[in-house]
Amino acid sequence: MEKIEGIILKKIDYKESSKIIYLYTNHGLVSVLIHGSNKMKSPYLSLTKPLNLVSLQVSGKDLKVLRDADIINDYRKISNDLEKYTYSTHILEIIYYFSTHEHDHKKLYDFLIKIFDIVEENDNYIPYLNMIELKLLYLLGVNPLFNHCVSCDSTENLAFSVEAGGMCCPSHMVKKSIISALGLLEMQQLYYYDLNKPSNLNINQVYLKEIRLVLDKYYEYHLNFKSNSRKILIGLIGY
Ligand SMILES: [Zn+2]
Repeated sequence: MEKIEGIILKKIDYKESSKIIYLYTNHGLVSVLIHGSNKMKSPYLSLTKPLNLVSLQVSGKDLKVLRDADIINDYRKISNDLEKYTYSTHILEIIYYFSTHEHDHKKLYDFLIKIFDIVEENDNYIPYLNMIELKLLYLLGVNPLFNHCVSCDSTENLAFSVEAGGMCCPSHMVKKSIISALGLLEMQQLYYYDLNKPSNLNINQVYLKEIRLVLDKYYEYHLNFKSNSRKILIGLIGY
């Protein structure tokens, strides 16, 4: 027997009545087979929901099979709020998509749990989820460069370019920036934000929207990624 703790990212049906769940742990992605979990009497029926933080006892080497399970946190205040839950599943999709990349899983896992704890208790939750998206760019090695023009050393009159992956001076800027100077300051604040030194994060809706659009474009352009939840989210948050 082996003990695994992680957050459920995704579940799929497997054969007649079983499921496979994909967990994100501090070592990265782990898949676990749950026998008979579609049966109404299965004690594991409520366990398999994405976003649940669970502690599992599993056996087997190549294919891990569930033997016993506890829910550590079901993030009820997130799953009872359709907008919060959809935004969170957008994050789970991102984590899943990049979970097989070599990066610092322990760091991301710990960060993720801390963020979902905050999202659970906070109505002003969007900046915290955006933080995950921004910091993951760093872990994946495609982080935006903020300090000087990406093509020269200039620090004068810079504007942000998604395609260039950071700031551009007027002579290296190809097209108009999709984020305002103030929106960019808020985005940088999130990128560098230290959860151990919490500060006020009252970001104006206008800038939250700009940051959202930059993140969408950045993930699409540099990582070829687009989530399914994002489409549903547009209907819920309006952008
Ligand atoms: Zn330049």
